[in-house]
Amino acid sequence: MEPAHLALDNLTIRYQRADLPAIEDLSLEAHPGELLALLGPSGSGKSTTLRCIAGFLDPECGDVRLDGRSILALPPERRNAAFVFQQPTLFPHLSVAENVAFGLRMRGVGKAERMRRVEAALAAVQLADLGTRRPHQISGGQRQRVALARALITQPRLLLLDEPFSALDPELRDEMRALVRELQRGQAVTAVLVTHDQQEASMLADRIALLIEGRLQQIGPPDVFYRRPANLAVARFFGAQNFLAGTLDRDERTAFTSLGSLMLHHNSVAPGPVTLVIRPERVRLSPPDATPNGIAGRVQTHQFLGALHRYVVACARSGDMSSASAALNRTKITSNPEPVYLTVLTTDANYRAGDAVRVILPPEHIWALADHGDDHLADQ
Ligand code: ADP
Ligand code: MG
Repeated sequence: MEPAHLALDNLTIRYQRADLPAIEDLSLEAHPGELLALLGPSGSGKSTTLRCIAGFLDPECGDVRLDGRSILALPPERRNAAFVFQQPTLFPHLSVAENVAFGLRMRGVGKAERMRRVEAALAAVQLADLGTRRPHQISGGQRQRVALARALITQPRLLLLDEPFSALDPELRDEMRALVRELQRGQAVTAVLVTHDQQEASMLADRIALLIEGRLQQIGPPDVFYRRPANLAVARFFGAQNFLAGTLDRDERTAFTSLGSLMLHHNSVAPGPVTLVIRPERVRLSPPDATPNGIAGRVQTHQFLGALHRYVVACARSGDMSSASAALNRTKITSNPEPVYLTVLTTDANYRAGDAVRVILPPEHIWALADHGDDHLADQ
């Protein structure tokens, strides 16, 4: 069977007695065979969306379509979707093999066929020898693999995963992630993975849909969320950390900021007030005598993070704001001598607190966003 195409159309979901909807006007699609991550902070409506797709929850308005046809009128068991939760929900009195076989029995699949498929499913999740055990006789990670086998054995058209790795310890989590990805690709099943972990989503998903407070912020391939966040909330969620108020010049390649005028190669906005976004791993440091380029700064704090070093660098505000009267007004340069702090993540171990440095902001890694007046976000 071909993998399913899933579409959500203008979905609004409201819990009883709740003032605000948990999900508001959500439209997105999952392409056939893709793994779409539904990403967002806790309480953003990810599980709500998944429960609505599965049929456990009715929307206030909008539609859920599978291959173009609405499935809202279908009960959960007729939606051809399999669900894996954070905590596996297995029948304690049934063996591992019987748990996995459950869905096939419900569908009236004969015993010989059932046994063959259970054996294959258990082998696929590397539990071939544990079929006769009860759920309490295996580990948590193994129980989660049983849940995965049970979900996939019915050959669902949609695989719905709600934080399935969160309860596992790091090593098992990596194994389980790889297994899910392999089986999802192998069976060519369309999957929606709910997670609050941006790294997990980036690692596993073909595309990510980012929800914040019940609203879709951005949807696309993982790398776009790092390079081209759609707004400040997205940039923050993906760890951008450095935000700088500025004014984009008419040439759309220069921004006037409290650190002076900066060159940039990419932006999505018109000339005028902007917020520049610079990821900490894109900022480079150099000894002050090595280059005349960049911005003068002093290392404020240094933390050793293991693989990387994290520096916070205090940068002097630029006195030269010549062509930027608008920027002058916005950044109140004369009345505010506070330095601008930039966060840097690097493998470069050469600096300590108190060191003078030059800070290089590569033009190709500066991204300008329209400024919607979030004053508190600027120059932090
Ligand atoms: P997420 O999975 O992204 O953490 P949820 O979808 O569980 O978020 O919840 C989204 C919002 O809906 C939250 O504000 C949560 O408090 C609320 N919510 C979730 N479940 C219920 C419920 N059964 N009744 C009322 N409100 C709920
Ligand atoms: Mg949830």
